[in-house]
Amino acid sequence: MKNIYLETYGCQMNEYDSELVRSILTASQYQFVPSIDLAQIVLMNTCAVRENAHQKIYHRLDELKGMKKRGEIEVVGVLGCMAQSLRKTLAERSPTVDVVAGPDSYKKLPNLLTAVYENNNHGFDFALSEFETYADITPKRIAGINAWVAIMRGCDNFCTFCVVPYTRGRERSRSVESVLNEAYRIESEGFKQVTILGQNVNSYHSGDDDFADLMHTLATKSNIPRIRFTSPHPKDFPRKLLHVIAENPSLCKQIHLPLQAGNNTVLKRMNRTYTKEEFYDLVDEIRMIIPGVALTTDIIVGFSGESDADFEDTFDVMEKVRFDSAFIFKYSERKNTIASRKFADDVPEAAKTERIVRLNDLQRQISKEINQTEIGKKVEVLIEHRSKKDANEWLGRTDQNKGVVFAATGKNPGDFVTVEITSATTNTLIGRAVNVVPKSSNILSLSR
Ligand code: SF4
Repeated sequence: MKNIYLETYGCQMNEYDSELVRSILTASQYQFVPSIDLAQIVLMNTCAVRENAHQKIYHRLDELKGMKKRGEIEVVGVLGCMAQSLRKTLAERSPTVDVVAGPDSYKKLPNLLTAVYENNNHGFDFALSEFETYADITPKRIAGINAWVAIMRGCDNFCTFCVVPYTRGRERSRSVESVLNEAYRIESEGFKQVTILGQNVNSYHSGDDDFADLMHTLATKSNIPRIRFTSPHPKDFPRKLLHVIAENPSLCKQIHLPLQAGNNTVLKRMNRTYTKEEFYDLVDEIRMIIPGVALTTDIIVGFSGESDADFEDTFDVMEKVRFDSAFIFKYSERKNTIASRKFADDVPEAAKTERIVRLNDLQRQISKEINQTEIGKKVEVLIEHRSKKDANEWLGRTDQNKGVVFAATGKNPGDFVTVEITSATTNTLIGRAVNVVPKSSNILSLSR
């Protein structure tokens, strides 16, 4: 039996895929270990969304090359989106890289490893499938509070900056029944929160059921206390879903709505197929139907051709919408995307930097102001783990996905606690547990 050390980079979909990989290879007599020192095989589940993600993997491959030379490990594998998008480059890196497997090739991993060990060959497979959903694989989860379920794979939207349609292929959905069965399993394993994943969850469909129907089924048939989802596309956000969220307490009042840019010309060049006016209308509707909802977003600054005036439009939309938080990135051209073929990456690095700094400053101020409106409120918090700054305190999350730090005795990860918010920073709410013995007791001795 060989030991595998698996490193996961990138998004929650990759975390989920790593659970599939663990399941597939454990069934084939491999075992996963928590330290590279115990492993003969190192697998990296990679991300291709930004250039720095690639650089990180290349740097890691250099380290692994040294380990291989010294005989500390035997086999190196690159899985996931980067494996798909850079298969030729990775193949050229042989003999450091022995196994390359794209996102639809995980079931072949046992054979690919056999090819390496028994036939002294490489194990490369990156065929994309129109059908593979891994619905028949039970993910091997690490016990905890949070679980993920991918309900669909691939993307047909072809936003011009995005590599995902090329690395993950065409959209395909799992059946409602298979998603529900996975939810039942998650519930029985004691997870308290599940995040439903898809590149564009709005596109989910199974028979006559759309995404809103699926969420309604999950909320009404499973007993998972908190259900989230990511990501919906603003172009076709299902209005029916807003009512489903408003009416079902287990569906969290938090929506991640990637804006990407606030200028209509830039949005058109990105092929996002909505305008900023349509985005405003959607935000108004969401806030009307789900009062108190938290909205978060993704923004790209410095996309091809983005002028100073175009950027000011994005700044303006951010000021008007007032998201609870935002992930803001500089545009980084990805090979083989439509943007890389049609447009130049022509915004100077200095301008990108200035824009990201300005937007981050704005967002920090807005996030802090929004968080400060929580002071004095009593909120329900799901405890996740100890606070990194003070082991006597817990870090938990509200329904709106805001981090809350507080002290409480007799509580454990997975418990729900009512917390009164006493202060707030840009990223965190601070509070005191209500009806729980206060901090002075020795909570370090609690079992975890
Ligand atoms: S919706 Fe656009 S940004 Fe999202 S995965 Fe698909 S192509 Fe990429």
